[in-house]
Amino acid sequence: MNAKPDTTSWHERARALRIRNQAFIGGRYVDAASGATFDSFNPATGELLARVAACDEEDVNRAVAAARAAFRAGSWANLPPAKRKKVLQRFAELIKRNGEELALLETLDMGKPIRDSLGVDIPASVNCIQWYAEAIDKVYDEVAPTGPGTLALITREPMGVVGAIVPWNFPLLMAAWKIGPVLAAGNSLILKPSEKSPLTAIRVAELAIEAGLPAGVLNVVPGLGATAGKALALHMDVDCITFTGSTATGRAIMQYAGQSNMKRVSVECGGKSPNIVLADYPDLDKAAAAAAAAIFFNQGEVCSAGSRLLVQDSIKDAVLEKVQAISRTMQPGDPLDPATRLGAIVDEIQMKRVLSFVDAGHRDGAKLRFGGQRVRQESGGYFVEPTVFEGVHSSMTIAREEIFGPVLSAITFKTVDEAIEIANDVIYGLVAAVWTRDITTAHRVSRALRAGTVFINCYDADDITVPFGGFKQSGIGRDKSLHALEKYTELKTTWIDLS
Ligand code: NAD
Repeated sequence: MNAKPDTTSWHERARALRIRNQAFIGGRYVDAASGATFDSFNPATGELLARVAACDEEDVNRAVAAARAAFRAGSWANLPPAKRKKVLQRFAELIKRNGEELALLETLDMGKPIRDSLGVDIPASVNCIQWYAEAIDKVYDEVAPTGPGTLALITREPMGVVGAIVPWNFPLLMAAWKIGPVLAAGNSLILKPSEKSPLTAIRVAELAIEAGLPAGVLNVVPGLGATAGKALALHMDVDCITFTGSTATGRAIMQYAGQSNMKRVSVECGGKSPNIVLADYPDLDKAAAAAAAAIFFNQGEVCSAGSRLLVQDSIKDAVLEKVQAISRTMQPGDPLDPATRLGAIVDEIQMKRVLSFVDAGHRDGAKLRFGGQRVRQESGGYFVEPTVFEGVHSSMTIAREEIFGPVLSAITFKTVDEAIEIANDVIYGLVAAVWTRDITTAHRVSRALRAGTVFINCYDADDITVPFGGFKQSGIGRDKSLHALEKYTELKTTWIDLS
């Protein structure tokens, strides 16, 4: 068996990497029609990684035409589900086989630790596509109970041409959450990766063709949000947009649908998730470890990050001391070092945004417990240390806005009802957690929390079998699980007169 690569060999591999940088339309790599490119940087060093095709409306038009032609031809949509399953299984297998290269690309492109790209992002992406492949020939349609004289069939049909616009924090995994159900259901897809992290999406497109996916069924149009993304969301021949990203962009996507062809829209957006620790919970080590992971994993660039720690006042110091001890083991390091647990922030803009929230915390009167600084500046990259504010009040900016960085706002409360009120006092409702040994309290709080997922005595438990998405301005619709298929299919009723 091969030894696991060390830091030096990851750097050697990075230097030898051949990076795909074009759009993928109609089954082949092409430059943007305009010839324009945008620069993709390694956020751990600030160095240029690739000049990537900057697609605009013309490229989106070409991609939509290719996707529509493939859909009309029926070479994918009309395949028996068991055959689609085989192709998607091969696709998942090829992603797995190229896992080290894809993990390296992911880490170079967005700065996350290689241990996470390799241990989380790539395996979860493989599992997702594999799972929808396996599922699709086990999903049945319905017959309505209309009586003996009629037969009413309720069937699900693919939407047609689906556009997926995805963010940079889990570039391949967020794309896989779309690719799996969209393709399994028989649609054609145009994927618009984030301009901050387009490389793995571009690379897997050719693996899909190698797996046997007909040309035109999966297209990738890298480019800026305001050009490629907007053109896709406004397109008159796109039947559905599935979006993951910020709440601000999610709102714009809904408007584009209204301004154009009323395409179906689902938006998975931001969060400011409360992690509530009650004093009766007996294992504070476990709760603190989960609280630290909930905000420092992936540099805090996680939609479901537990960015508000609501801790009962009598245990505040005990919990924060433990969180601080854990944070010492999570100091930012070279993302290509397999020991690193906190990597680089995705780019300079995002790093400055995170640091501006640290300033806002100070300004609003919160107390910095630890962290708060940019570090490793000599690397040329963008690193921020794990940061915790205490004495945070619900009205403060750092308690209300999504920071998307390793910054935790600790808020104390006295009673359970107060905790529920604080927890729900934001525009978001993605996930929430409560730590308690009392089962009645656990259920009562869980029911009162306005969130798509509530964790009890855990945080960020994850499985492809459960839906993921938010209440309120965290979005509309659900990724993952069989429920995701509902977003990419239309319901049809067919009446048959049997008289
Ligand atoms: P973003 O909204 O800036 O960008 C997301 C995508 O939208 C990118 O591909 C971008 O190019 C595109 N885009 C930007 N402006 C656009 C426009 N006007 N028209 C069309 N497309 C446009 O978000 P981001 O910074 O890439 O990602 C971080 C956000 O994503 C956070 O808010 C995070 O919470 C959210 N997120 C949510 C989930 C979820 O499942 N709910 C998962 C991951 C990330």
